[in-house]
Amino acid sequence: MTRKILMLPGDGIGPEIIAQAARVLAACQTHGLDVEIDEGLVGGSAYDVHGEPLPAETLTKAKAADAILLGAVGGPKWDNIEDISKRPERGLLGLRKELGLFGNLRPALLYPQLAEASTLKPDVVSGLDIMIVRELTGGIYFGQPRGIEERDGQRVGFNTYVYSESEIERIGRVAFEMARKRECRLCSVDKANVLEVTMLWREVMERLAEEYQDVELSHMYVDNAAMQLVRAPKQFDVIVTGNMFGDILSDAAAMLTGSIGMLPSASLNENKQGMYEPCHGSAPDIAGQGLANPLATILSVAMLLRYSLDEPVLAEKIETAVGLVLDQGLRTADIASEETDSVSTEAMGDAVLAAFESLYQA
Ligand code: NAD
Repeated sequence: MTRKILMLPGDGIGPEIIAQAARVLAACQTHGLDVEIDEGLVGGSAYDVHGEPLPAETLTKAKAADAILLGAVGGPKWDNIEDISKRPERGLLGLRKELGLFGNLRPALLYPQLAEASTLKPDVVSGLDIMIVRELTGGIYFGQPRGIEERDGQRVGFNTYVYSESEIERIGRVAFEMARKRECRLCSVDKANVLEVTMLWREVMERLAEEYQDVELSHMYVDNAAMQLVRAPKQFDVIVTGNMFGDILSDAAAMLTGSIGMLPSASLNENKQGMYEPCHGSAPDIAGQGLANPLATILSVAMLLRYSLDEPVLAEKIETAVGLVLDQGLRTADIASEETDSVSTEAMGDAVLAAFESLYQA
């Protein structure tokens, strides 16, 4: 059956990195991948044309797709749009909400070839391979009531941190299943010593653990988890946590690997429909200069193939090709050391394609 992929390049470096990922997808098509690929507008580029960051046409295409590959959105050009519902980032939030993409998978994997690029000592991070499972459509970012209002003669800002048992259970299941495919160790991060909502979180995780007896469940308070991530990150296999804690911890974990330009991500709903994107933003400071690292986006294609299209062999070939290119010493500027010359976005794409093809000739 022909599956549908929607590509949304977005803003800034988005179109440049998506162009390289599209070449990799095309190569997969020549090796048997049966997909129909469409494109759409999102973010600032959609606002410029339609006055909306998520035009109805894009949403319709997104709903019909098996998977979405997104570049990045945002940039200074749109920072001053007064109506915040029209800002580029709202396009992303809208897609997550409309498609019910509650499960965010963010791997923090350090390619051994890049151990020197981390700000942490190589022996602390080399071999690092963590999967952070973050709840993406609930928690304090969406809880009601919220707002800023006048109380007793001064302004007060407030948000609501709320999770239902069913929301906790469905993200818990994603995490337990993920742990099963890896080292069967799951660390649930909460603040159960202070927040009732995370007391419930812990209780639900404990209950689920009875169903997944092969997975070793542990709990950690979020402040300790932040400390442990920089002290001894290799202790973790899979981490599961709520929206806000996951937002912060996954960025910290990303930096352990040296470059945000290397990290893919997936956001899935209950039907395995997913949106795949690099963890970084639209990097307006380097947009249009051929400097962007396309590897996070290319690795997002691998995740897309693995999690939404059930094509683990192609996914693995892409990941192997990226490893081969790093072995050859190719580096874009963000991961180059002072001694190595850096290559352009397109040259990196060329090298990944050549390495990918070489795997079929071996
Ligand atoms: P950013 O990730 O875009 O950039 C941070 C730094 O990392 C910059 O110096 C940039 O040049 C560099 N960088 C990022 N990706 C790179 C790549 N692939 N190759 C080489 N270098 C790379 O974060 P920011 O500067 O805080 O945000 C810029 C814009 O992106 C903002 O408008 C922000 O709202 C938006 N943003 C979008 C997303 C998204 O689309 N998912 C995520 C974060 C930020």
